[in-house]
Amino acid sequence: MDGLLPNRPASSTRAFVTLVTNDDYVRGARALINSLRATGTTADIVVMHTDARVEGLDARLVRCDLLPTSDAFNAAHARDALHARAAFTKGGKPPFHTPLDNFAKLRLWQLEYERVVFLDADTLVLKDIDKLFDYPEFCAAPNVYEGVGDFHRMNSGVFTARPSQATFDAMMARLDVPDAFWRRTDQTFLQEFFPDWHGLPVFYNMLQYVWFAMPELWSWDEIKVLHFQYEKPWQDHDKVEKLRPLIDLWHAYERGEIPQ
Ligand code: UDP
Ligand code: MN
Repeated sequence: MDGLLPNRPASSTRAFVTLVTNDDYVRGARALINSLRATGTTADIVVMHTDARVEGLDARLVRCDLLPTSDAFNAAHARDALHARAAFTKGGKPPFHTPLDNFAKLRLWQLEYERVVFLDADTLVLKDIDKLFDYPEFCAAPNVYEGVGDFHRMNSGVFTARPSQATFDAMMARLDVPDAFWRRTDQTFLQEFFPDWHGLPVFYNMLQYVWFAMPELWSWDEIKVLHFQYEKPWQDHDKVEKLRPLIDLWHAYERGEIPQ
């Protein structure tokens, strides 16, 4: 637990974990927590956080530092440098998104839990997903939102993990090597670290662009986790009208109104 400071003891061996490094993502975490509570899960709900207004969140709060990466690593993954070298052409990243912060996700391997399901702070859990705790490390869904070519890549917004300091140390030894450039940050790193990642059905991480780009894949009955990749539902952005029903749903969860 080096570098981690919890506000209270764990009450389960299993936890849903998210990360927030600023107040914008606290909004995301609040809606996510409301959605998780509505599933009736008995696992812990954990928010790993740096400096952000997390007081009042209905979760176990674990204060953490960003990773102690080198100046060269930080410069290569600074927002402007990363956007210049590996531009996002399919969607926009919000101004409050700092790519370097993503890597702090890896600290979940330092938590004391036996099993973790990680969820980005921009997700909503629409159905009980506790069975994922019985799945092996490392399971994730493909990064599908445009077409079959997307199946080559996984998305790191939802995944299963078994915390272990040894794994964390092995990750640190691989992450910040000379000339390292992880173009999609933790996502690229995790896909390389777990090349045999187990594929979850896309419904465990349904990306919001599927709504307009691949509507034949959309199925409310099957979707377990909805993920607002790229633009966030609490932001004003150019796809708001295209995504209106999804954004309205997110706001209902943020208010604590759980759709039946
Ligand atoms: N995150 C954060 N602060 C940041 C960037 C990322 O707290 O500045 C966390 C947050 O949990 C977020 C996740 O890392 O959901 C990944 O970033 P994001 O969801 O914005 O990426 P996308 O899903 O759009 O690729
Ligand atoms: Mn995300």
